[in-house]
Amino acid sequence: MASDSIRFVLFEPSHPGNVGAAARALKTMAFDQLVLVNPPPGHPDPEARARASGAVDVLESATVATSLAAALQGCGLVIGASARHRRLGIAELDPRECARQLLEASRERPAALVFGPERSGLSNAELDLCQAIVYIPANPQYSSLNLAAAVQLLAWELRAAQGVNVDSPPPESPPATVEDMELFYDHLQRVLTASGFLDPGNPRNLMRRLRRLFNRTRLDENELNILRGILATLAPGSGERHWRGVPPPEERSP
Ligand code: SAH
Repeated sequence: MASDSIRFVLFEPSHPGNVGAAARALKTMAFDQLVLVNPPPGHPDPEARARASGAVDVLESATVATSLAAALQGCGLVIGASARHRRLGIAELDPRECARQLLEASRERPAALVFGPERSGLSNAELDLCQAIVYIPANPQYSSLNLAAAVQLLAWELRAAQGVNVDSPPPESPPATVEDMELFYDHLQRVLTASGFLDPGNPRNLMRRLRRLFNRTRLDENELNILRGILATLAPGSGERHWRGVPPPEERSP
């Protein structure tokens, strides 16, 4: 799976808290490949553990490397995250395009996102190992995100690019069908006419406006049944007509 083959490499992070928070950022987005190049002494220390919270497993299983080249071993695509625009002749991507390219490349070989140290960011020497740069287009007056915040944002983009809706729960009630919506509009029109609110001699655009209103809300079956129930209660006997030969729900086969 793609999430196994995307590495998040922190190059010489200086704050243990950021390392822990980065582990948490990864886990919340269902990633777990954290690689630390020369992490702070005592790794993983209590502050890192505290900031990792429920992601201590990701923190503890992080690979430790002594050089960026070692951390990137076996990788195909490598993208460096930069808090500033760089004029180095390296392609600069936005987060969405970065995520798309990483996901695509990770099907063939592991791919990596590299983050720089808090104080200085990635130097030219580290960027020499990268095929592209990703820049989060933040406030031009202050574009430097906290390290773990940058990890979180780019991890989210990767998750979104994977299609996170795949495992979202099914809706409680399916959307109302076009036929049922037409029966409802027909019913509504009859009730509005019978009540005198809608003048058939001068209907103006009332029904079209009401259609637009209800169409915007994308009613589901339950909601539509409630509305039809209200109409039937307010105007008993008003809900019996058919629309274009389609029987109303209560008259459909057993
Ligand atoms: N002071 C450093 C910023 C370091 S922030 C500088 O000016 O470069 C630590 C790391 O977080 C950066 O090296 C980068 O990898 C990431 N990061 C922070 N803000 C970012 C942004 N706007 N876009 C992409 N990455 C960012």
